[in-house]
Amino acid sequence: MTCLIIQLNAVTNRHQASKYEHTALPQTQKTILKALSRIERIANIGHWYYDLKDNSLFWSEEVFRIHGLDFDDYTPNVDAAIDAYLPQDRETVELALSKAIEDKESFEFQKRIRRPGGEVRHVIARGECELDDKNTVTAIFGTIQDITKIKLQEELYELAALGSNAALWDWDVKKETLRWAGNSAEILGFKNKKDLPQTTEDFAIKLLHPDDRKKLNKAFVAHFKNQEEFAIDLRLSTTGKHYRWFKARAQAQWEANGRAIRICGSLNDVHDLVETQEKLAESNEGLREFATIAAHDLKAPLRSIGGFLQILKDKHIAALGDEALEYLDYSINGANDLGVLVEDLLQYASLQADGITPTEFNLDKMLKRSLRTMKATIKEKNAKIDFEKLPTVICDEHKITRLFYNLIENALKYSTKTRTPHIEIGYKKKINNYQFHIRDNGIGIPPEKCEDIFLMFQRLHKKTDYTGTGIGLAICKKTIALHGGQIWVESELDRGSTFFFTIPFEDDAKDGEKDGAKEEGQ
Ligand code: ADP
Repeated sequence: MTCLIIQLNAVTNRHQASKYEHTALPQTQKTILKALSRIERIANIGHWYYDLKDNSLFWSEEVFRIHGLDFDDYTPNVDAAIDAYLPQDRETVELALSKAIEDKESFEFQKRIRRPGGEVRHVIARGECELDDKNTVTAIFGTIQDITKIKLQEELYELAALGSNAALWDWDVKKETLRWAGNSAEILGFKNKKDLPQTTEDFAIKLLHPDDRKKLNKAFVAHFKNQEEFAIDLRLSTTGKHYRWFKARAQAQWEANGRAIRICGSLNDVHDLVETQEKLAESNEGLREFATIAAHDLKAPLRSIGGFLQILKDKHIAALGDEALEYLDYSINGANDLGVLVEDLLQYASLQADGITPTEFNLDKMLKRSLRTMKATIKEKNAKIDFEKLPTVICDEHKITRLFYNLIENALKYSTKTRTPHIEIGYKKKINNYQFHIRDNGIGIPPEKCEDIFLMFQRLHKKTDYTGTGIGLAICKKTIALHGGQIWVESELDRGSTFFFTIPFEDDAKDGEKDGAKEEGQ
C-alpha cells in the first residue's frame, strides 16, 4: 500500500490524489485507489504519509475532510498538521511522534483538532514507522479517524450516567467481566473506579448481602431464561460494614440461540425510601392498634352514656322540667353524634392503616344488596333510582361497597323538598378504567366548593339542616386513591350533582357482565 501511495504521490502532482482518472496509473491501480478513497470516506478514516527524508507530508482526501480543509487549496505540512491539534493536546502529539521515531515503534493517541471554522473534532491517530536497510526510520505511515460522533455519544452516556446518580454496570456474560460507568465507585462506597468488583463473583463477595444471593440468582435466571423483568431490591455493603438497600434493574442481550451474552443495569440507592416505608409500616401498625383500642374503649362507653341518658329521659320524663328535658335531649344527640363521629374517624384511620385488599367483585350484586338495605330511606324520600347493570371489577369489596353506600346516602340526604329525588347510577368503560357516576337532582354544590367537600370535616350546611360528620367524602377520596383512581363532582346549585369516580383495570379483571342493560330500580 505504501508503495502505491508513493507511486501515486509521484505521478499525481502530489495533492490531486482524487483525480486518479487523469493520472498515468494503470487502470487496476486506479480502481483500487478509488475503492480505497471510498472506504475511507465511508469509514471516516483517512491515511497520511510522513516522509522524513524530505520532511513532506501526504494526506488522503479523507484527512482533508476530517481537517475541514480544501483538497485543492491546501498543502499539508507536519508543523501545520501538529498545529491543527488543540494547544493543550499538541505536546502529547509531538511527543508521540518523536518517541515513535526514536524507538522505531508504532503509536496511537486520541486527541482533538480544530477546523479552520473553529469546530472541534475528536480523532484517533495511529502510525507505524518505515525503516530502511540500516534500520533508520525513513517515514511514518499513519491513519486518522474522526470519532466525534462516538465521542459525543460517549459523553452523553457518561453525562446521563452521572446525572442518574445510579451505579451503572455492564456484564459480559461470556468473558465474565464487569464494567462500571458514571459515579459507580462513589455510590458503592469505593475510593477509585479500579477498586470496583471486576467479576460478578467478586461483586457477590465484596458487596452483596449473603441473604440476597439466592434472590439475585433467581432474578438473573428468570430474566435470562424467560425474559422476565429484572427489578429487585438488594442489600449492598457500601462501607464494608453497613448494608444499604439498592434497587437493581437490568436488561440482557440475547444471541439468536436464546443465550444471554450481555446484561446491563443500574443500582439505585433506595435505602432512605425503604427505611421510610418501614417506619410508615410501623406507624400504620400503631394507627391500627389505636383504631382497635379506640373502637372498643371509646365506642362502648359512648353507647352507655347515650343509652343511660335515654333511659333517664324515658323513666323520669314526668319528673323532669322542660329545661331539664331540653338539656337531656342535647346530651343524647351529642352522645349519638359523637358515636357516629368516632365510627367515621375509625373508618378513615383503618383505611389509612390497612390499605386495600383487591379481589374480583360483582358490583351489580353489591348495588342491589345495598339498595335493599336502604329501602326504608328510599321509600321515606319517595326516591326513584335508576341503575345500569354494573360490571365485575378488581377492588376491595368492603371499601367499594361503603363508597357506593356513602354516595347514594348523600344523594338521598341532599335532596330538595320541592322535587322527587331521582338518582341515576351507571358507568362507562374507558381506555384504562371504569368510570362510575352517581347522579342526583338534589340541592347541588357551589362550583367553588366542589373540591373542598372531599377534605375532612368540610360541610356546607348546618347540622340542624342536614346531619353528618363531614368525613364521608374524605373516606371516598382515600378509598379511590388507594385503588389508583380518581373521584370528582360536577354540580349545579339547585339542579343536582353528579359524583364520578374511576377504578383502573387490572390485567385479569373480569368484565364479562359489563354489557348488562339498564334496569329499573325501586
Ligand atoms: P357529610 O354528609 O357527613 O356532611 P360528606 O363528606 O359526605 O359529609 O360530605 C361533605 C359535604 O359535601 C356535605 O356536608 C355536603 O355539604 C356536601 N355534599 C355531599 N354530597 C352531596 C350531594 N349529593 N349534594 C349536595 N351536597 C353534597
